[in-house]
Amino acid sequence: MPDYDPNASEHQSWVPVDPESDFPIQNLPFGIFEKPGRGVRPGVRIGDTVLDLAELKLAEGNTLNGLASCAREIRRRVSWLLNAANSELRDDAALQSRSLLPIAAVETRLPFGIGDYIDFYSSLEHATNVGKMFRDPANPLLPNWRHLPVGYHGKAGTVILGDRDIRRPHGQLSKDNQTSVVGPSRRLDFELEVGFFLNRSTALGESIPVASAEEAIFGLVLLNDWSARDIQRWEYQPLGPFLSKSFATSITPWVIPLDALAPFRVAGPAQDPPVLPYLQQQGARNLNIELEVWLQPLGETAPMCICRTNFSGMYWSVAQQVAHLTSNGASVRTGDLCGSGTISGSEPDSFGSLLELTWNGARPIHYPGGAERTFLEDGDRVIIKGACVGAHRIGFGDLSARVLPA
Ligand code: MN
Repeated sequence: MPDYDPNASEHQSWVPVDPESDFPIQNLPFGIFEKPGRGVRPGVRIGDTVLDLAELKLAEGNTLNGLASCAREIRRRVSWLLNAANSELRDDAALQSRSLLPIAAVETRLPFGIGDYIDFYSSLEHATNVGKMFRDPANPLLPNWRHLPVGYHGKAGTVILGDRDIRRPHGQLSKDNQTSVVGPSRRLDFELEVGFFLNRSTALGESIPVASAEEAIFGLVLLNDWSARDIQRWEYQPLGPFLSKSFATSITPWVIPLDALAPFRVAGPAQDPPVLPYLQQQGARNLNIELEVWLQPLGETAPMCICRTNFSGMYWSVAQQVAHLTSNGASVRTGDLCGSGTISGSEPDSFGSLLELTWNGARPIHYPGGAERTFLEDGDRVIIKGACVGAHRIGFGDLSARVLPA
């Protein structure tokens, strides 16, 4: 196998891939799939084809946890197998028919066994919007916010794949902040986020330094942190959100390796005041990922784009999040999932939640067919899209789910 960079944009593959596809030869995301009669196994996606890593004898297992530490080598190997200059798989029709499967013939599964799920709060614009709405418009950020990546430990057991519909949750609701009733949430919302998986385990007492934190990241997915705002409002003080977010968190099935995103690095926003030494990161710490949220209300014939924003504006980077998460010596495990926090930009159409887009319900969104939305109604479909666009395009696939009645 020649020395080979799977991320180079000029690669010619013998497998034809639509250039508009989210999964070009430079992407090669990992996932877990089931093919009826063949069991659950790891795969790599290219265009509308899944490469069966077990059939190619490159990896096995029903999660990516076992292959996470050698993913870079597997990806190089797969990339070379697909290269037009390599005849090994190109000229072996029998192996091709066993190992290249149409995406329509398989069902994706959760990519990792997820031990811990952590959700951060790393968008300055999002934290500012929430602070303006619920605390002090003149002084919306809490004093700690610019000093550390605020986060909380979420519920790993209810992370699900993005194509599963969401049942509206019941919970305690309070109108007057004194008394409460139980009922279905009336303020169901999405949160546009990017998630990332860790590729290694650490020992208790060990910290991951910010300089090497990216080496501990396997790859990225799109994430929807479904939130019931009315349940959240009543329960969240003083310990933070609990049942208002634990009912479901959706992710895309194909994990985009951090390596594939190297051409899309950008500087993050300036951090002021300067962060403490353990959070100081050199170089371009953010990623340019274009993000959109589309919402199709029940009864409307088409979804409408209600949010356009970019991951590049996040105040705290993924590396800073990992360094902070482990700075107290808390151990992490392969497959732990971190969410970025809601990704909002500075424009009113770049906010990553309905809470912000409708300013807590005060500014409804109007549809051409007559629908009007503040929060999600039963039958509504939420679609989150993400892609890096440059010399080539790296897509994340869509997160698309409907709201089911309580
Ligand atoms: Mn969140």
